[in-house]
Amino acid sequence: MVKHRKFSAETKLRPKTLEIHGGGALTDSELRIGVDRVAAYPLGTLEEGEAKFAGTKEGFMYSRITNRTVDKLEKRLAVMEGAEACLCTSSGMSAIDLISKYLANNGGHVVSSNRLYGGVFHLFDVILPSLGIERTFVEDPQNGTGWIMGHSGRTKFFHLENPSNPLIDIFDIKFIADITHSFGVPLVVDSTLATPVLLKPLSLGADIVVHSLSKYMGDGEVIGGAILGKKDLIDDLKKMWFRDTGPCMSPDTASLLLAHIESLTVRMREHCRNAMKIAAFLAGHPKVSRVFYPGIGERAERNRKLMPKGFGGLMAFEVNGGRENAKMVLESLKLFWHAPNIGESRSLIIYPWGETHGQMADSDKLKAGITAGTLRLSLGREDHRDLIYDLHQALEKI
Ligand code: PLP
Repeated sequence: MVKHRKFSAETKLRPKTLEIHGGGALTDSELRIGVDRVAAYPLGTLEEGEAKFAGTKEGFMYSRITNRTVDKLEKRLAVMEGAEACLCTSSGMSAIDLISKYLANNGGHVVSSNRLYGGVFHLFDVILPSLGIERTFVEDPQNGTGWIMGHSGRTKFFHLENPSNPLIDIFDIKFIADITHSFGVPLVVDSTLATPVLLKPLSLGADIVVHSLSKYMGDGEVIGGAILGKKDLIDDLKKMWFRDTGPCMSPDTASLLLAHIESLTVRMREHCRNAMKIAAFLAGHPKVSRVFYPGIGERAERNRKLMPKGFGGLMAFEVNGGRENAKMVLESLKLFWHAPNIGESRSLIIYPWGETHGQMADSDKLKAGITAGTLRLSLGREDHRDLIYDLHQALEKI
């Protein structure tokens, strides 16, 4: 007799257990789900095939629409995030693009924080308006006024990235959700940098969560995205927009994600610890003019209340002397790789002004707090003393 199968509700399991067992652990007959590297599944009888195509019968039919390995990942992510359902996509950008077009198609409008990853800012600023979906950026998103003033009769959703990339602003999701709901529209939260280990936006009032799974979840090995929320919404998305636009995840990617997610909590702890130590070191360095990490500075106490489990491994700092000195530091580092990702085992450095946020107008970057001297670090899981030594020797070059 297998005693542990007597648990009555999977949702009662703790987060660290759900990373490993979530999404069917109590009913699965396989220890590890295989990779369904197939384009199509047999449909059965004609009646069964017609019912599957019509969506009246559940079952796998074609991997652009449903795949068993991807389905397993979706179920696991849903329980980890505390969502009714999940839809995985080919990338974080495709998740945000899909949900935005689904909610605001046909002349809708989005109100968004201006503290965004550069690609998302550009999607809202240029791509969606070219399709007739307008946007208003809130320039002081900690304050409710901009969100309220941004709303119009055509607004279909509010969008928040929390924490934000690259300056790691932390927002009060509950406060912004209350404003959003007073207008009767949903709040979408991009929770990529928090992961469900550090924050669960749905429990704070958000309606939809999006993730880039290319960061912490995949540990640098894959590109992927996810949309999480109520079952009706996810089912509707799957049946229509997702099915006919095709931004699906490959089963190999899903399989790698399932493996990496098993260690997410443990990895996040190390990212958080290293980032805090590096932020403290940089905050005391004479050649660093500003440090952006929620655990230090005036807002630290308030931030700890909003994210008590930690702030993740991303941080930024500013050197005096603009691009020239930023280049000097970036190119003098020996351990940090100059590469555009977040949340890998190795520490990475990037130059937001000309790289990740280079698609934004200079005036928009400045409004979002990004200057020509800003460098963004993704702290990996090396020994923090080696990272500090590396930063020390690179800053000495200025
Ligand atoms: N959201 C955030 C906060 C990001 O930092 C990124 C990428 O850096 C994305 C979304 C886009 O994700 P992807 O690269 O998986 O398309």
